[in-house]
Amino acid sequence: MVERYVLGLSGGRDSAALAVFMRDRYPDLPIEYFFTDTGSELPEVYTYLDRLEALLGRPILRLDPGRDFLFWLREYNHFLPSVQQRWCTRQMKLRPFERWVRPTIDAGGRVIAFVAIRADEDRAGYKGETSGVEVRLPFRDHGIDKAGVIRLLKDSGVGMPAYYRWRSRSGCTFCFFQQKIEWVRLLREHPEKYEEARLLEKTAIDHGSPYTWSDDESLEAMADPDRIAEIEAEYEKRLERLKVAARAKLRRNPYFDENISDGELDDLFDIDAVYGLSEVSSSCVVCHK
Ligand code: SF4
Repeated sequence: MVERYVLGLSGGRDSAALAVFMRDRYPDLPIEYFFTDTGSELPEVYTYLDRLEALLGRPILRLDPGRDFLFWLREYNHFLPSVQQRWCTRQMKLRPFERWVRPTIDAGGRVIAFVAIRADEDRAGYKGETSGVEVRLPFRDHGIDKAGVIRLLKDSGVGMPAYYRWRSRSGCTFCFFQQKIEWVRLLREHPEKYEEARLLEKTAIDHGSPYTWSDDESLEAMADPDRIAEIEAEYEKRLERLKVAARAKLRRNPYFDENISDGELDDLFDIDAVYGLSEVSSSCVVCHK
């Protein structure tokens, strides 16, 4: 019976670390690495995948969804995807993957997919129930948490994707899971990508879409300099509040050092004003790992 081992890379930190882990731990397993390219990814993602490919010494297959985002936008009556209607993940990520492995399953073979859910995450990932794909979670089985992931990437030399400097998630440039501060950062880092997203949103609104990319606010409105300043100020305030909360938590420890730096505090509590004191969020595990 044919047996295939597959590992999907999202362009994010966790799936990259899983690839490194599997290479080191199971060097003889013929893992097929793949990346489902929506065509709307950050440029940094492609650079990172190239680096990873060199490190793994194996190709990362780029799965082509066949149709681009605009095609699907038209198919869905110009309604932008949203948390409630996440057609983009289904059409541009899951279906191309399932099309790729289907012949093996139809022929009676097994497909085993390794998914990068960490030991410190309380959430399910791709289940593969309907597709017949068997899912394995090596990080859970081996107790690898966020600190372990960062260590794996550092020790391997591949490091973190460059976009982590300003954004914590992989996925499409216009992903609706982004918080307002991330949109502002996209505007600063990749103004042309912001403009593309703004135009897509305008087309959708012109056709009656009830959704904008970000809750209750268009990208047009968000690009206003006063609004940008407001969003950045709100972000800073939230960050400060989280630091105070983290210090308060630490004070319960009798060995707490009042002079702990913000960097050390961040290492301990994983402070991020976008997600709170933990990075676990409701975002999509298929796109953002
Ligand atoms: S990254 Fe966001 S916009 Fe892109 S397919 Fe995933 S959920 Fe949809």
